[in-house]
Amino acid sequence: MRDTKDHLIVALDVPSLDELRQLCRLLQGEVGMVKIGLGHLGYGLHEAVDIAHQYGHKIFLDLKLFDIGATVSRSVEGLCQLPIDMLTVHGDPHVVRAAFEGRARGQGKFSILAVTILTSLDAVDIDACQFAPMPVELLVEKRAQLAVQAGADGVIASPAEAKRLRELLGPSFYIVTPGVRPYGADQNDQKRVATPRDAIQAGASHIVVGRPIIHANDPLEATRDLLLPLAGMTA
Ligand code: C5P
Repeated sequence: MRDTKDHLIVALDVPSLDELRQLCRLLQGEVGMVKIGLGHLGYGLHEAVDIAHQYGHKIFLDLKLFDIGATVSRSVEGLCQLPIDMLTVHGDPHVVRAAFEGRARGQGKFSILAVTILTSLDAVDIDACQFAPMPVELLVEKRAQLAVQAGADGVIASPAEAKRLRELLGPSFYIVTPGVRPYGADQNDQKRVATPRDAIQAGASHIVVGRPIIHANDPLEATRDLLLPLAGMTA
């Protein structure tokens, strides 16, 4: 059975390595994983990964890779050098297959998570992408199925999609949901939010939370408070 904190991935969206280091120190042993991603590219993605690793954190590397198969495969093979636990790629089958092959060549041990449809896109944005006309929920389901068939270990989804995806994919795949807010917290720019408990109950294996923790006066207290309602849940 997993520890409650294992469900929580904290997005370390801070603008300097010093702040990142402070958070890594503060949250040592308190969270399941930390998220490092494109926002860190400008000031040291590798250093950010090294720092998180030094403080013993598991690392969710959110790069959302998308390119021709050969390039994705080569970059994922290279990323096998890094001490990461999860990596995101876009959920198009050729991308997932290439990532899967690259990980095999590099003998990486991390999980590959597929972004189905960016949860920030609405029906109008999706129309503009010229996907076949269908409800967004159905598109997400289809892309999730294709991604796991192509070798993904799980998907990124909104909490609103987690229940259906869990039914569809079964118990063994990861479902990672951003857009999570403790009850009563500021929603920031998130449009559809769920509480940590609701997201896990819906079938999420992990929740990604950034600002409610990293902008809190006391991020450690905020983390512990956020995890309290998950006590006893085993998803
Ligand atoms: O809103 P919050 O600060 O909790 O964001 C947590 C992380 O989840 C951020 O790094 C953000 O980029 C990511 N994310 C998101 N909403 C999406 C997709 C990703 O907040 N729809």
